[in-house]
Amino acid sequence: MLDRSGNRLTQWICDAVAAEKDSLAPYRDRIMMSMGAVTVPVLVPFIINHLLQERLLLALSLCVVELCILANTLALWRGRPAPVPHALLLVPFVAGMSAAVVLQGMPGVLWNYPVIVYCYFALNRRVAIFCSLALLLHASLLALLFIDPTLALRLFGTLLLTIVMINIVLNVISDLHRSLARQALTDPLTGAFNRRVLDDALQAIAARARRRPLEASLLLIDIDHFKRVNDELGHDRGDRVLQALVRIVAARTRAGDRLFRWGGEEFVLLLEETSLAGALQVAEDLRHAVGSADLLPGRRITVSIGVGQYRPGATPDDWLREADSALYQAKAAGRDRVVAASSASSAMGDAPPAQSKEKV
Ligand code: GH3
Ligand code: MG
Ligand code: MG
Repeated sequence: MLDRSGNRLTQWICDAVAAEKDSLAPYRDRIMMSMGAVTVPVLVPFIINHLLQERLLLALSLCVVELCILANTLALWRGRPAPVPHALLLVPFVAGMSAAVVLQGMPGVLWNYPVIVYCYFALNRRVAIFCSLALLLHASLLALLFIDPTLALRLFGTLLLTIVMINIVLNVISDLHRSLARQALTDPLTGAFNRRVLDDALQAIAARARRRPLEASLLLIDIDHFKRVNDELGHDRGDRVLQALVRIVAARTRAGDRLFRWGGEEFVLLLEETSLAGALQVAEDLRHAVGSADLLPGRRITVSIGVGQYRPGATPDDWLREADSALYQAKAAGRDRVVAASSASSAMGDAPPAQSKEKV
């Protein structure tokens, strides 16, 4: 039990400090602008009060903070980068807060709470965790030395709780963020990337190819006679075949290879830095793997695959069309085979090779 909760704690900490968990990053400027708008009515009365009470040091540090926040807010509002790095604002924050603790006692302590939240608004998650823990120790030590040990203990406990709660909320936001991204990018049935991602990936390759020569190939994979599977065994069985096919492809391809669901029972496997010969080998391996897998009892499931290599100057549509024509050839030649878009001589499979297929 202890061991299990220990593991969970380690996992929680690893999750919290993972760089990709910085889910606030895309919204940082917006958060800073909103904060800028809020700080004017909140901080200005304190500045005036400090001036009236002749606490010049506190008035000055709050003034510096407010002016920096305003300069940043104004710049962000005009669509320019913030002139004062958000992290740098922590210096007058902490200096002013420390002075307030020494000069005023308890009222100064209260500023620790918004400053800890600010750390998470302004900094990436890893740095924010480090800074907030440093602030926790700093504030508790100041309270211990200048106020009262019992207050220091309470301050330590409540600030620690605040830090933990912020991290819990941020972890939930990160999970939601990831799940929304997954929903937007993948097909819910199979988990393969969707067509929108395919379009972007092909456009990116075509754009890169305009800058430097590159090799890339794609496989257009289509399950043979899939309609019969649905008609005879039901749609649910058909769905499970689609999911099993994606698992087979995932198990037999490299980490950088990406699988996309192109249509109902058609998938595109994009192989970057892969020649036509390499892609044909992958295609043949997949065709064998699917044909020999026990996907449905008493029924052999096969796939036909059209293989297309990226041609300099071709558009993504050209590339897909060439692979689609090769797939059509594979179907016409009897299915359960691989055909390359470039020439019929590279057609492989158990059945006789497909008819010649020249580049479009
Ligand atoms: P071919 O060998 O020529 O490819 O024949 P086919 O029967 O596989 O091709 P056809 O285009 O005639 O039929 C494709 C079928 O795929 C029709 C449709 O019922 C099925 N299908 C499309 N999407 C899904 C899905 O999400 N789940 C299931 N179970 N079936 C689907
Ligand atoms: Mg089919
Ligand atoms: Mg089809």
